[in-house]
Amino acid sequence: MRRAFFVWTLGKEGFVGFQRLESDPRRREEAVLAFWQERRIFERSLERTKCGPRYVFYEGPPTANGRPHFGHLLPRIYKDLFPRYKTMRGYFVRRKAGWDCHGLPVELEVERELGIKTKAEIERYGLEKFVEKCKASVHKYIKAWEDMIRRMGFWIDLTQPYITYTDDYIESVWWGLKKIHEQGLLYQGHKILPYCPRCGTPLSSHEVAQGYRNVEDPSVFVLMPLVDEPDRAFLVWTTTPWTLPANVALAVDPAATYVEVEHEGKRLILARPRLAAVLGEGARVVAEHSGAELVGLRYGPLYPLVEKEGAYRVVGADFVTMDEGTGIVHIAPAFGEEDYELGKKEGLPFVQPVDKSGRFTEDFPLAAGKFVKDADPLIIEDLKAKGRLFSAELYAHDYPFCWRCDTPLLYYAIDSWFIATTARKDEIIAESEKVNWYPEHMGRGRFGDFLRSMRDWALSRDRFWGTPLPVWVCASC
Ligand SMILES: [Zn+2]
Ligand SMILES: [Zn+2]
Repeated sequence: MRRAFFVWTLGKEGFVGFQRLESDPRRREEAVLAFWQERRIFERSLERTKCGPRYVFYEGPPTANGRPHFGHLLPRIYKDLFPRYKTMRGYFVRRKAGWDCHGLPVELEVERELGIKTKAEIERYGLEKFVEKCKASVHKYIKAWEDMIRRMGFWIDLTQPYITYTDDYIESVWWGLKKIHEQGLLYQGHKILPYCPRCGTPLSSHEVAQGYRNVEDPSVFVLMPLVDEPDRAFLVWTTTPWTLPANVALAVDPAATYVEVEHEGKRLILARPRLAAVLGEGARVVAEHSGAELVGLRYGPLYPLVEKEGAYRVVGADFVTMDEGTGIVHIAPAFGEEDYELGKKEGLPFVQPVDKSGRFTEDFPLAAGKFVKDADPLIIEDLKAKGRLFSAELYAHDYPFCWRCDTPLLYYAIDSWFIATTARKDEIIAESEKVNWYPEHMGRGRFGDFLRSMRDWALSRDRFWGTPLPVWVCASC
């Protein structure tokens, strides 16, 4: 039996009649779309509801510098479904399209097109020319996106989109930033931030959350012998051997118990709760100390990159855990947020042997010019040769990668502008709890976790294609 399909036909006065349609689903859809377009059904649904109560919809705009694909459909179907439903209930739901034009994805596309890879090459090419290329690249696929949006039946006003690189849009961002500044919530900070050495920019915690992968990294235990007592050594664990040249201190939990055990002619110091996990059962304990007693002891550095009074000593810290490692934490203020804060508090020197492209500088000749992760094997070999390696194996853990270019991220001390979101954390969480989340666990779970572990938003990027920050600092104040 041949099935017939019909569509309501609306004239100015409403219902007029049925129209026979195609049975081929694709042609049927096209016929419906043509009907909508011809009769301006979307526009008229807005005109009809314009006196109704407002239901506000914001289109989080797509980046149009790549072709749309299946993954873009589902979220756009939701974005269509709810406004459509609310319109049918008599609400006025304005739907303004937008295009997200700024940011790293666009720059990377242009870099590929020009066959260049670094920020220095972009500067040689010329910023003005580069930015023009970015602008052109954004428009490349807008037509493909518009076709997809129309074809899937997404009702949104494509005729007056907001475009994030236009002056009026940028001015609205500036207006927002000014309001934030007036509340004292915009500040410049020197902080350890997740940083992509390839893109040469810090990333926000939101961006970092998108790029975790489970990878195998070296897990090494190294020996840090006490000054003048080379046979007594702290046993220290790390999964980032490349950070060891920047080591300036060891941290212990002052309230924990530490033991000294005899092992192959040496005395090793580690936390008692970690003893069995690290050295197995049956290790011979020859002495016991509280963490507080260890504080102040000095040790011989693996790589003496600084000659400062305060360096290479044991300090107390409240973040030392007994969950992994040895209960003695290697501190490199250049590469860790807690390390950096502890360094400030304890007056530790700041050793930075790595440049902004993630390569060792001449300060660390063993691996000068090498990308840090590629230096791991060299450093492990070197420690072995010096008799400072206790053990080395591979360790599977979650490590963040750049969400755009897949380079392993480094934690790097950097100047950046921040919005003090944490100052309003409680209010933000309270607002989020008012949201009717579907499914509910997204709001309490994933998004809730994100809000509870909120950090100040590092919003500046050391890049070229973005909203310029309207910040002028007075030189005489
Ligand atoms: Zn990157
Ligand atoms: Zn001034």
